[in-house]
Amino acid sequence: MKRALCRAFAIALVTHPAALIAQPTAPPTFTRADTLRGSNTPERAWWDAAFYDLAVKVNPGDSSIVGRNAIAYRIVGRAREMQIDLQQPLVVDSIVQDGTELSSRREGNALFVTLLSPQRVGSRKTISVYYRGKPTVALRAPWDGGFVWARDSLGNPWIATANEGLGASVWWPNKDSYSDEPDSQRVAITVPEPLINVSNGRLRSARSNGDGTTTYEWFVRNPINNYNVAVNAAKYAHFTDVYLGEGGRLSLDFWPLAYHLDTARKQFEQTKPVLKCFEHWFGPFPWYADGFKLVETPHLGMEHQSAIAYGNQYLNGYLGRDRSETGHGLKWDFIIVHEAAHEWWGNNVTMSDAADMWIHESFADYAEGLYTECQQGKAAGAAYIIGKRAGIENARPIVGIYGVNYEGSGDMYNKGGNLLHTIRQLVNDDARWRRVLRGINQVFARQTVSGKQIEDYMSRNTRLDLEKVFDQYLRTTRIPVLEYKIEGTTLSHRWANVVPGFDMPVKVTLSPGTFSFIQPIERWLTTPIRVKAEDFRADPNFYITTRDVLKPAVPDQSR
Ligand SMILES: [Zn+2]
Repeated sequence: MKRALCRAFAIALVTHPAALIAQPTAPPTFTRADTLRGSNTPERAWWDAAFYDLAVKVNPGDSSIVGRNAIAYRIVGRAREMQIDLQQPLVVDSIVQDGTELSSRREGNALFVTLLSPQRVGSRKTISVYYRGKPTVALRAPWDGGFVWARDSLGNPWIATANEGLGASVWWPNKDSYSDEPDSQRVAITVPEPLINVSNGRLRSARSNGDGTTTYEWFVRNPINNYNVAVNAAKYAHFTDVYLGEGGRLSLDFWPLAYHLDTARKQFEQTKPVLKCFEHWFGPFPWYADGFKLVETPHLGMEHQSAIAYGNQYLNGYLGRDRSETGHGLKWDFIIVHEAAHEWWGNNVTMSDAADMWIHESFADYAEGLYTECQQGKAAGAAYIIGKRAGIENARPIVGIYGVNYEGSGDMYNKGGNLLHTIRQLVNDDARWRRVLRGINQVFARQTVSGKQIEDYMSRNTRLDLEKVFDQYLRTTRIPVLEYKIEGTTLSHRWANVVPGFDMPVKVTLSPGTFSFIQPIERWLTTPIRVKAEDFRADPNFYITTRDVLKPAVPDQSR
């Protein structure tokens, strides 16, 4: 989930702040802190993160951490002050480059470091930030962010981080922007024995320090979103498996709490069919070098790259519930499916700005329907997606506001999934549709991208002009209304409630028992029809509404 589940899922289940503000409201006001966090500031733009060497000691005794991040970066522009983000109340002990301690000024959660060494364009430098403190405690992870200091049912410490949205700088210093990922990363976490820490990538060493602590050194060989870097420390059991996939042998590592080992062995059998389905639709798993992991966490879940946080209590559905209300979602474990989808959508292909989080969540939501299809057939997959329309609010657009770390509406899940399902109907060719989904993961692999890049790619490769479709569903809250009237053997139709120029084709019953394409525009058009008004239907796979203008108006059913 990116937070997704990331956070939005929560809307249906708990009272989350997002649910409370999901009515039409005035645009929010933003502060300079939002700009510093959410934009590519001049103090960020001149350097490109190459490698983060992160080492953190975690002290559950007093909920504190002490650590260091050595930031290796390429110089891509004329240097000025260097912005490094580290959220309060964490404090910097020192910042060092080339053996010299540097001064910095703090502006809220951003540090501006004055550099002394020459910063030549094209060269590479390293700067180390030493820091400590008691990081923000997540009150209800994963929907808010920070550290989780929990205990398992035997009373052992059970520690995790979850910080999508709020930002990785809530516990470690970095360029806290979606737009810049390091090429690789080391994550060395020191925890009290006998806790085991599981982070991202592969375990290189576990070294006892002789003082009652062990340092677990993990290494990620691929670009990684900063918010995906995670601490997971507990008394874990460990078992492994191998998946033979499109990229060869993929190691599967499972880290349940020790006393959940038997339960986990059974529930996590779902992993392989999920990987098989997603490799079919999206292409090879992106991280063969780093492996696939599920790590049990005290929070519901998060798509932590190559180390998915799992907290679904070994239940099918979403904590035992089917968000589609069709029953199809009770035949698989929501967190395994949704978070695994993010390895492609969000981790491999990443938004460069929070406003485009639909790239992560709309596709992950849609992937749930595809998995339902892989497991239960095409009709079930469609029913699952359609069933989730009940959760759409249409109060705010899916796309958020750029440059201020502001996501769009939680409709990026249910509505975004339905948008993609609708586009699949327009493509009307599953082989082509699959090539498009795989193509995005190939062309934009390991990149951060704008929503517009994805939209343009889809238009080009579906051979459909989808510009108005994206504008309608991503940037407005209006659902197209197909207005029609049937007089004798003539169907008159037009689009209403649409953006100017909207001309999306749609399938309707021109003949009994079969759907055929018509291409309405905003003006009335006519076409022959052999169906009576009372039998007329639009294909329910299209997320639209219909209105017979010869009948009295009925309440809006678009939600
Ligand atoms: Zn998600």
